[in-house]
Amino acid sequence: MAKKIVSDLDLKGKRVLIRVDFNVPMKDGVIQDDTRIRAALPTIEYVLNHGGKAIVFSHLGRIKTEEDLAKNDLKPVSVHLEELLGKHVTFINATRGKELEDAIANLKDGDILMFQNTRYEDLDGKKESKNDSELGAYWASLGDVFINDAFGTAHRAHASNVGIASNIKESAAGFLLEKEIKYIGGAVENPEHPYVAILGGAKVSDKIAVIEELIKKADKILIGGGMRYTFLKAQGYNIGQSLCEDDKLDLARELLAKANGKIILPGDAVCAKEFADVPGVVKDKTEFDNDDNGLDIGPKSLELFQKELEGAKTVVWNGPMGVCEFKNYEKGTLGVCEAIAHLKGANTIVGGGDSVAAVEKLGYVDKFTHVSTGGGACLEFLEGKTLPGIACIQDK
Ligand code: ADP
Ligand code: MG
Repeated sequence: MAKKIVSDLDLKGKRVLIRVDFNVPMKDGVIQDDTRIRAALPTIEYVLNHGGKAIVFSHLGRIKTEEDLAKNDLKPVSVHLEELLGKHVTFINATRGKELEDAIANLKDGDILMFQNTRYEDLDGKKESKNDSELGAYWASLGDVFINDAFGTAHRAHASNVGIASNIKESAAGFLLEKEIKYIGGAVENPEHPYVAILGGAKVSDKIAVIEELIKKADKILIGGGMRYTFLKAQGYNIGQSLCEDDKLDLARELLAKANGKIILPGDAVCAKEFADVPGVVKDKTEFDNDDNGLDIGPKSLELFQKELEGAKTVVWNGPMGVCEFKNYEKGTLGVCEAIAHLKGANTIVGGGDSVAAVEKLGYVDKFTHVSTGGGACLEFLEGKTLPGIACIQDK
């Protein structure tokens, strides 16, 4: 059933709790990339323009010790949000208490307040991350309605999403979450065929569940990245020193058998004698020496993937094709990105921190139908799992 969206609610004069994902990369109190903050603006602006009193909150990093507090202070984010909105944002350096409650009581329609990192509550028995029932109920008591727009944590049941939603009369998805549900949910439930999935990244173990699901749903599963070598070893090839999970060889064989030809493993690779950003040599999978490290897919593999992508109507991409942090081994990832970006008439979805970084590097964000803001959440959604941060929102 469809979930309520922020635009389904009457917001005028209401205290609107908005859970956003402002978990941005920070260095010495300076924001390194504000994509996530910008991504939340449509929902925040909608609430403000419709006379709501916006109470915005997010987690930032992990809080285990006192020292983690200063590092993960959300104050600089509130300053940046103020600049982006062109509007004063009241920042409350607390996650509960009188100062916060008074500031909320003083909000006028169209005002905005942000409070401190929800995970400051983790210092005391992981209250946020373990969805402490008192905390969720307390935060819910600060508002009249709840909007969840944080997809990055939607795969976790925390006090700031599930806890609030289960203690408040009305809840809805923000526009960002709506988009994730529409595109990723659409690919899971009702993909247009041909449906081609491209998986890469480091480990098979991270992606077993998603491969199992894709075997049921997709027409082709193209596998690159480090995980490819576990499959190649399972097929009996010498993979040299390439990344391999030896305890997953049987599983890789099982998946290959189950996939019945749907899993496509490319032929050539770019190899180096060490795991380093040094120029490599292109080798076929039959030619590896014992000291070779496969660090990227080769040109023939890229060509094969491009061919497999032709005519696709749904494309889901998660995980780089090689060690794309190394200049010498980014070609496969950038090439795949390019190929997907130029497809015509296809629904193209990309998720995962490193893959999305490649899309941004090429300036192709607008050429994908959907660039997911979630890593783990995107994977679990693609696995066909119910995400608690979505499930907790009321149906229309
Ligand atoms: P994403 O963030 O897009 O979900 P992952 O985190 O699953 O992707 O994987 C990214 C990591 O995979 C990168 O750090 C990259 O270096 C690594 N990787 C890709 N190909 C290889 C390879 N051939 N050998 C070792 N590591 C690899
Ligand atoms: Mg990653």
